[in-house]
Parts: sequence; C-alpha cells; structure tokens
Amino acid sequence: MAITRDDVLKALSTVTVDRGGTTLPASGRLSQVVIDPGNRVMFSILIDPSEAERFEPVRREAEGRVLALPGVSSVLASLTAERGASGPAPGAPRQSGGPVAPPRPGSAPGNAQGNAQGNAQGNALPGVRHIVAVASGKGGVGKSTTACNLALALSAQGLRVGLLDADIYGPSVPKLLGLSGKPRVIEGKTLEPLQAYGLKAMSIGLLIEPESAMIWRGPMVQSAITQMLRDVAWGALDVLVVDMPPGTGDAQLTMAQATPLSGAVIVSTPQDLALIDARRGVTMFRKVSVPILGVIENMATFICPNCGHASAIFGHGGARHEAERLEVPFLGEIPLTMAIRETSDAGRPVVATDPDGPQAKVYSEIARKLWGNLTGAPAGRAAPKIVIE
Ligand code: ADP
Repeated sequence: MAITRDDVLKALSTVTVDRGGTTLPASGRLSQVVIDPGNRVMFSILIDPSEAERFEPVRREAEGRVLALPGVSSVLASLTAERGASGPAPGAPRQSGGPVAPPRPGSAPGNAQGNAQGNAQGNALPGVRHIVAVASGKGGVGKSTTACNLALALSAQGLRVGLLDADIYGPSVPKLLGLSGKPRVIEGKTLEPLQAYGLKAMSIGLLIEPESAMIWRGPMVQSAITQMLRDVAWGALDVLVVDMPPGTGDAQLTMAQATPLSGAVIVSTPQDLALIDARRGVTMFRKVSVPILGVIENMATFICPNCGHASAIFGHGGARHEAERLEVPFLGEIPLTMAIRETSDAGRPVVATDPDGPQAKVYSEIARKLWGNLTGAPAGRAAPKIVIE
C-alpha cells in the first residue's frame, strides 16, 4: 500500500509542539517529508540546540504516529539543530558555505584531544571516544577504500573500531567488507552493527534504496546520519571512522556540522585538480571548526604488478606540498597497486587479508600517525602485561 505525503502530514498534525496546541506541521519546524520506494518515511524537526530535551518526546511521538500508519515500514525522524537566524527554512536547500558553527574549544588543528564532543553541540556518542571523518573533495579518489583499510589498521593496533558508511551518494562499505543483508533490530528500535574482520560496521547502503538518498537535502542528510550514529548499538569504541560522501556541497557541510567529530582526514590523489578539491575539503571542515587530522595522498605511485617498479603516473608529492601550504599534517602516501584494487573490489580488504604485506604496512603507519594526531598518544589501549611468576 502506497503511503502519501498527505497521509504522513495528517498523522503528524495530531502531534502538538507547545501548550497552545500548535501542531507540528503548523509550527514551521517540520522539514520536507521524504518517502522512499520501500515505504520508509524520513523527516526532521527543526529546533534550537537548547530545546533538544523538550523536543525529544515530540520526536518520539511523531515517529510513533507515522509508524502506526498502515504500510509504513520504518520511520527516520530526528531533531535538527540548524544554526543561525539566517538559516534556511526546514526542507529548503542550504547554500554551500551557509550556517557556520561557532568555533569550539580545542578546534585548532593538532588539538583534537578528548572525547568526540562535537560541533553538533552536546551530541557526543556515549561509549565512543572519537569520531573521525574520512572525506574527499571529489569522488573516485579512493576515500572509501582508504577509510576501510585505515579502520582495519587502527583495529590491528588494538583499538576498538567501528566503520560507519555515510556516503549517501555511493555507499561502498558493504562491498569493501563483503557485507549484505539487512541489519538486525535489537531492543526496540536499535540496530545491531554488522561485524567484519573485527570491525563493527553499518552502512547507509544497507538501510535505504540508493536512489532515495540522491534527492536528500541538508536536513534529511542530517537526520539520517544522526540516526545511524544514535540508533546503532555501537557499544564501546575507541574510534568510529565515518566514510563521508565525497565533495564539499550542502549535504557534506551539513553532515560535518551534524556529526560530533573529533577530526577529519582528507584523501586526495596527487593531481592538481584533485588537490583543488582537497583544499575545499580542508576549508569546509575549518568552517565548522573540525580539526584536520591530516591529508593522505592516495594512488601516489603506480607499483607495476609484474616487476614492482614504481612510477608516478599522476605526478607525486602534490598532496604533501598542499598539506604544508595549508598548514595541516600530512599522514602519508598510499601507492596504486593491483592488490589494493582487487582486494577492495572482492570484499577482502588488504589490511585484513594480508596483514604483514607491504600495503598493510603503509596503512598501519598512517593509522599510527592519525591516532597520534587525534590523541597525542601512540595507538593501543592495552596496558603492558605484567607477568607474575
Ligand atoms: P571513492 O570512495 O573516493 O569514490 P573508492 O574507495 O570507491 O573511491 O575507490 C575507487 C576505485 O579505486 C575502486 O575500484 C578501488 O578499488 C580503487 N582504489 C582505491 N585506492 C586504490 C589504491 N591505492 N590502489 C589501487 N586501487 C585503488
């Protein structure tokens, strides 16, 4: 049975937001309502951050009312703390470079210590020490492959790691980790993360039809990411790696703003054009006061699978120079190799399947630097073992 927007609005008009009886649709706080082909309904409620507590019951009630409609398979409702009086109306497209979060303490590069406290004001995830975004100025530079192998390299160093695929335009973590099937719902509305190679993983690709995400605007994106952060049973993690959508547009800015990030990593290829985009990435995170933990040059040199010769087919060193110019840390170079491409495309990531190989070493070194920039400490949570004989 097909659900219409009117059905949803009718259900939401039974929810009031104040003592005067103003209904949710009449309050001007409701975003655009999106219904995907699987009859999943998504919307968000615009609030001031200080109203979060008061509006949580409203959100829950709204979710419940829509879920009770016959034919609705699930509801994704979230509170959206848009900033600035000049911010757009709910559901309206945001301008890139629009609302900017005020700077927060500890937001300078290289000063990402502490919990994932977040530009998303007080929205830190309980149990998760750090949330790190892996981003790129444009698609196809190997962002997802890098995010996945970095997460595995952090895990290999003894850290408890989650990987959240928030790339609404091309979720690839299921393919990279060889995952399929719908996540299991546990304890009411909480989703159980999937497990792969020692990582906890969740992907937007396992939750929505890809085509429905393409039309999402800022508030919808924010709603989805908030739900994937909060309604997934991540448990205790040292770091949650978030594979961001590529680019620096409205959706990316909103996501960077909505997620309580400890820091961001920018992946770029060495070519000039990619570097211009990487620069935009750095600017975007600076705008929302997220520390840049470093730039990674991917596909830096091509390693010939036959003779092992390294050639810099895209040029070389561009990202390192760009990082210096932008005064952000440089984390390292990842070569272009058949092993990385084949293992990524086969759902058998190289760091997990060849942990002692040359590629794993590269990712491992980058992960070590990343963790150092994040915490100021070497990786590994286990204290030295004391053996008493
Ligand atoms: P993005 O997330 O930036 O769109 P992906 O991670 O999906 O990019 O990578 C795009 C393609 O490039 C994939 O086929 C992947 O296997 C390949 N790839 C990424 N990094 C490397 C690398 N260092 N060496 C070889 N192939 C790579």
